[in-house]
Amino acid sequence: MRLVAAMVKHETNTFSPVPTPLERFNPSFGNAAHSAYKGTNTPLGGYIGQAEALGAELSVPVAAEAWPSGKVDHQAFERLCDAVLESVQRGCDAVLLDLHGAMVAERHDDGEGELLRRIRQLKPGIPIAVALDFHTNLTQLMVDNCTAIVGYKTYPHVDMREAGEQAGRIVLDMLAGRTKPVMRWGNRPMIPHIMRQATDDEPMKSLIATAKRLEQGKVLAATVFAGFPHADIHDAGLSAVVIADGDADAAEAATQELLDQAWRDRAGFVYRGEPIDQAIARAKTEAAKPGAGPVILLDHCDNCGSGGTQDDMTAIAAVLRSGLEDVAAFSVADPEAVQLLIDAGVGRRATIQLGGKRDMPSIGVKGKPLQVSGVVRAITDGEFVIRGPMYTGVRVGMGRTTVLDTGAVEIVVTERNHEPWDLGCLRNVGIEPTAKRFVLLKSRVHWRAGYKPIAKAVVDLSGQGVTTSDYSILRFDKLRRPIYPLDQMAD
Ligand SMILES: [Zn+2]
Repeated sequence: MRLVAAMVKHETNTFSPVPTPLERFNPSFGNAAHSAYKGTNTPLGGYIGQAEALGAELSVPVAAEAWPSGKVDHQAFERLCDAVLESVQRGCDAVLLDLHGAMVAERHDDGEGELLRRIRQLKPGIPIAVALDFHTNLTQLMVDNCTAIVGYKTYPHVDMREAGEQAGRIVLDMLAGRTKPVMRWGNRPMIPHIMRQATDDEPMKSLIATAKRLEQGKVLAATVFAGFPHADIHDAGLSAVVIADGDADAAEAATQELLDQAWRDRAGFVYRGEPIDQAIARAKTEAAKPGAGPVILLDHCDNCGSGGTQDDMTAIAAVLRSGLEDVAAFSVADPEAVQLLIDAGVGRRATIQLGGKRDMPSIGVKGKPLQVSGVVRAITDGEFVIRGPMYTGVRVGMGRTTVLDTGAVEIVVTERNHEPWDLGCLRNVGIEPTAKRFVLLKSRVHWRAGYKPIAKAVVDLSGQGVTTSDYSILRFDKLRRPIYPLDQMAD
């Protein structure tokens, strides 16, 4: 048996000013892609394991994942698609794909649908397994051009490998003549708020429980996608997809059950924040309570894991003003500042204009640096292997990384974007997060993978950025309307 397994992943925030050229994907090809992901907690890691177990001949043409940002550059999209297509062209029995599901390219609002369409055009009817992110904005084009779609059931995403294995198994069982998968999907006119999508919290917890319960008998896989709201495309929002063995009615019924439950619970997916100074006052109260571990301060409107510039200083400035002490902040992505701090050197004082280097025209904000003075505490290469539950085993690079200590706040400054979902982000620069009173994270939900077990409490700081939680300041032109909660909707 000959298999092709590939990863092409991007969550596109169409409001983000951060460009997405090929370099942002840091792609690896062929053997390098294979060895970088073998054994990792990713769908591609799962596919590699399955191919080995079968003794199949496996080609891994490309593994490419970029931090969320603006629309994928046309050339980058074409290069990544071509890598997959060239490998499929050489001949294989099935294609196993590790995609995101919310990729928007310059010329294609549905990046994954376009890639799948091209594969099927090249090899009509070829079996294709697709593992997709929980934040997929699912489309007809995607469903029409593959055999099996399986999404993650966790947010933070700690079951990526399992989702890949489930998708791969469905297609490999079909190839062996054991099953005849049929797939049905649907959506509801709703965009659940990212801050209300965590699978440990209701109502998502119960929705995921339903999906798991439905996976029995003829139902081989039942997935609910929360959707990615910061994408002004027609199909953004909640959807479900179900695969059943030879039974379209069973697949359809399970799909509708998931969608009906989500729609019934829609009010629970609406988020309401509080003014930042009020939140910081509450954080002080939380810190004064007995118990170990830091109070987590979430700078959720500037989350690079959803396309934020990661250099907006609003929340950090509010923390500095407030007099909070013993704070670690992760992180400001600002290569110019990193260079200045490296030039100053460890142990030396520096005063720099930090962050605010990028304008955010989609929300009418001009970038505004913050003047910060402090002592340079650390300089590292920013590379480490993930030991926590999310992306376990993957080697990540934050770029050269520094720490500027103001006395009250240790601010981590990185060259590249990196969301703090692993304790390694802070430990890599010599900060022990369990020992801090407060840890400010530019994150929304994925921080929980690494930091929830050590957190004493969590307080949301509504700062500013292109992952804003206030959808009223985003302009949607292409999104299907009406849609809840942007529009009033009757039952
Ligand atoms: Zn996601």
